Amino acid sequence: MAMVMESLNAFEIAQKQFDTAADFLKLDNGLSKVLRTPKRQLIVSIPTRMDDGSFNVFEGYRVQHSIARGPGKGGIRYHPDVSLDEVKALASWMTWKCATVNIPFGGAKGGVICNPKQMSQNELERMTRRFTSEISIIIGPEQDIPAPDVYTNAQTMAWIMDTYSMTKGYSALGVVTGKPLSIGGSEGRSEATARGCQFVIREAAKGLKLPLKGARVVVQGAGNAGSIVARLLHGDGAKVIAMSDSSGGIRNAGGLDPAKVMAHKGKTGTVQGYPESENITNAQLLETECEVLIPAALENQITMQNASRIKTKILAEAANGPTTPGADEVLHKNGIFLIPDILANAGGVTVSYFEWVQGLYSFFWDENEVNKHLERKMTQSFREVHSVATQYKVHMRTAAYILAVGRVAEATRVRGIYP
Ligand code: NAD
Repeated sequence: MAMVMESLNAFEIAQKQFDTAADFLKLDNGLSKVLRTPKRQLIVSIPTRMDDGSFNVFEGYRVQHSIARGPGKGGIRYHPDVSLDEVKALASWMTWKCATVNIPFGGAKGGVICNPKQMSQNELERMTRRFTSEISIIIGPEQDIPAPDVYTNAQTMAWIMDTYSMTKGYSALGVVTGKPLSIGGSEGRSEATARGCQFVIREAAKGLKLPLKGARVVVQGAGNAGSIVARLLHGDGAKVIAMSDSSGGIRNAGGLDPAKVMAHKGKTGTVQGYPESENITNAQLLETECEVLIPAALENQITMQNASRIKTKILAEAANGPTTPGADEVLHKNGIFLIPDILANAGGVTVSYFEWVQGLYSFFWDENEVNKHLERKMTQSFREVHSVATQYKVHMRTAAYILAVGRVAEATRVRGIYP
């Protein structure tokens, strides 16, 4: 049997996705060269005193892919597998995501190679503050605005805001989003990625005439994005039949209650062992037959190795980069309706944008207001992407890239290349 070879390098994948759209748009070769390359990449060493008095030196990154349409925007990830190429990919996906939902930001991302699960709160705080100090030469409310990503949260953002503010001598609320409410966070931000995903899943289901009530839902990754989208779809009457985290998954064909599963995870540290469910692997979870499959963990989960065994009607990418370009084609051929990451998880950055705006005006909205604006943005963006997909006869990922790359290309072209 022939081996299926495909690159799993996230940045090569991001460039390939860009190239596909650039071909459809017949982009000028010079402009393509500019847009497929990150504008700025900063690598820093982060000396950190550990609780036992020893020192570790962590490596961290901040990459700004494009600021053609506004300040850089993108999360910070703490994970042992972080690499410069991964951060470059995530930064470029942020550029296309902000353009897909048409908010005035460019794309950026940060990461630190570390294992936060093995670090104390004090160690994480010292590492975060030193990392902030090292990248403060390129971040700022008008330059580049970080947010939470995998294994960072509102507390991490509070430390970044405080550290940055100390060096300025005043409180710079706009330097990060995803902050706690007590220091200028937005209502609805912690749920925003999941809620945005729910809105586009509803649109897709409507288009496919698939009732969400009773629909079987499978969610990989029980973090901020995954656990909340599971809870929201459960609230829509869908049947969440499988969930997972980094230790593995659980399945119950009769349906799980995501809130109870998370309470169990809160007590035991993992979803596995949840009563009235069978333990399964993450690989088995992805191949479980369902109507809505939501990868909400890390990159490269659906590849050419398992794409033909995916049995869902809708694939909604809450995670960034869970599907490879080779797998995209297999899924498309098999009639699976894909909602690509740069649309499906754009709710997070959309409410980050609302948070940034509220902070600049020092005028804060209630949760209903936030969710109303989010719903309008997400459903409108879904419809725009879907209409490009129909016009160009392509799947939704290529359509979203055509829309996004076209917008960033136009901004770059009209500004001109300096000098
Ligand atoms: P998180 O840290 O809150 O949760 C990550 C979850 O993934 C955890 O439950 C963890 O156990 C699980 N996980 C880790 N490795 C896994 C593996 N190999 N298999 C299965 N599960 C695994 O992170 P998050 O913020 O929910 O981010 C998840 C994904 O969503 C990432 O791809 C992130 O880039 C994307 N995303 C997040 C946001 C946001 O606002 N938080 C916005 C857009 C996109």
